[in-house]
Amino acid sequence: MNLQTRKHLLETVCYGGKEDYLRNRLNIEFLTSSLSEHQTNRIENSLSLKSSIIPVSDTIYTIKSHKDDKVDEYTINLNVPSCTCSDFLYRCDYTDGEKCKHIWRIIFLTKLNALPSKQEDPKPWLFYELERDRMLLESKGLREYSEDIQETQDYVRTTALPEISFERIFFRWLTLIDDALAENNNI
Ligand SMILES: [Zn+2]
Repeated sequence: MNLQTRKHLLETVCYGGKEDYLRNRLNIEFLTSSLSEHQTNRIENSLSLKSSIIPVSDTIYTIKSHKDDKVDEYTINLNVPSCTCSDFLYRCDYTDGEKCKHIWRIIFLTKLNALPSKQEDPKPWLFYELERDRMLLESKGLREYSEDIQETQDYVRTTALPEISFERIFFRWLTLIDDALAENNNI
């Protein structure tokens, strides 16, 4: 993965949206061709959703959905899959596999490896993904940034899972990648 791709993926996790980017990377038309109109609408809405996503455990994610000045927070369990939003609770026929836009967004982002996938412990996932970028930055001579990544890795390694702020790490990671790309946009 190059750093441009990483930047796009981190932006989808931190800020949401990026509909065109997601559409180009995912085969949405194929997926929706066999689904009901309701499900297709939810998938369409998931692509433009302004939301930040935080992995909590190997199956649980928190999603903060931004609308106007309001932030709604929901918990998604990908094992079931289920969501605490009212659309899922009252309108999705989950026995028929219906999913709300929040669940769809998380499924798409795990598919692109923007987030740890279901049943993948987020801590080793994070450590490994940071390592990929650290090695890339080091190989390009951007030592300052690779050292910053290493600092983040040290924090991840020495901190117990509930205390790790994935949200802060994702934002810091994005800033770092942004700065590195400003210095050398061929990575
Ligand atoms: Zn939902």
